[in-house]
Amino acid sequence: DQDQPKKPSWIRVKAPTSEGYKQTRDIMRDNRLSTVCEEAGCPNVGECWSQGHATMMIMGEICTRGCTFCNVATGKPQALDVFEPGRVAHAVQKLGLKHVVITSVDRDDLSDGGADHFAQTIRAIRHRSPSSTIEVLVPDFLKSDAGAMEIVVEARPDVFNHNLETVPGLYPQVRPGARYFHSLRLLQKVKELDPTMFTKSGIMVGLGEDRQGVLQVMDDMRAADIDFITIGQYLQPTPKHHRVDRFVTPEEFAGYEKSAYGKGFLMVSATPLTRSSYHAGDDFAQLRAA
Ligand code: SF4
Ligand code: SF4
Repeated sequence: DQDQPKKPSWIRVKAPTSEGYKQTRDIMRDNRLSTVCEEAGCPNVGECWSQGHATMMIMGEICTRGCTFCNVATGKPQALDVFEPGRVAHAVQKLGLKHVVITSVDRDDLSDGGADHFAQTIRAIRHRSPSSTIEVLVPDFLKSDAGAMEIVVEARPDVFNHNLETVPGLYPQVRPGARYFHSLRLLQKVKELDPTMFTKSGIMVGLGEDRQGVLQVMDDMRAADIDFITIGQYLQPTPKHHRVDRFVTPEEFAGYEKSAYGKGFLMVSATPLTRSSYHAGDDFAQLRAA
């Protein structure tokens, strides 16, 4: 695509070939589980899967939203699979995960947005792997009946993650169907409901935002008491998706990391290849040990 800036040297990806990678892939296949690692074409899949870290995506592979940065198919989703929470828990146990990240497509077709399915998945993992910490990366529940987020919180995940994805000015282009302040408020309410639960959010950069906009999002997040932040470079999954406006330099990322710690975030990941779930377990273990 001539329109696109050239990929810089710091966006490097190793081809996934290791034994660990294959083992993780087989466990996912055997349990018929989808991963965001594959669905999103994540550049870290070689590294993460070789260590057994995978982010499972529940409730099917078809999303009711159509975010312009996202490679997941949009359409009418499949019926919920009541056995899925059990299969996820089985895979978590097989992988021996100390920290699990579970995400999903958006299910605007369900009255609770899939909150109960999330809660069941959390409970199933807890049952089989009581010492694993659990992070959920949830949809915004914008179109769900009241009480959806509360159902997830009651199942007591260790980390409640929901991504703001970008600055508010880019929402109409990047995240149509979502509302910036609704998403912020969702995270704020989680903290009000259970102050002991860690809250987390993330954005992509290189979509057309500017530095001031990113710093403003950080301030908004801190005003909503969000504990952890992730910032990574947006990469275009296919030529049909939102274009890459620019590649943010590693130095700029380092600047964002410094600013974020300065604003009081407990955990910050801001590098070109940072993804919402990148090294989530290592970072969380470090935080708990501190
Ligand atoms: Fe999967 Fe997250 Fe690792 Fe990407 S960063 S491969 S989505 S676990
Ligand atoms: Fe992709 Fe999530 Fe947007 Fe659906 S809601 S299109 S899965 S980013």
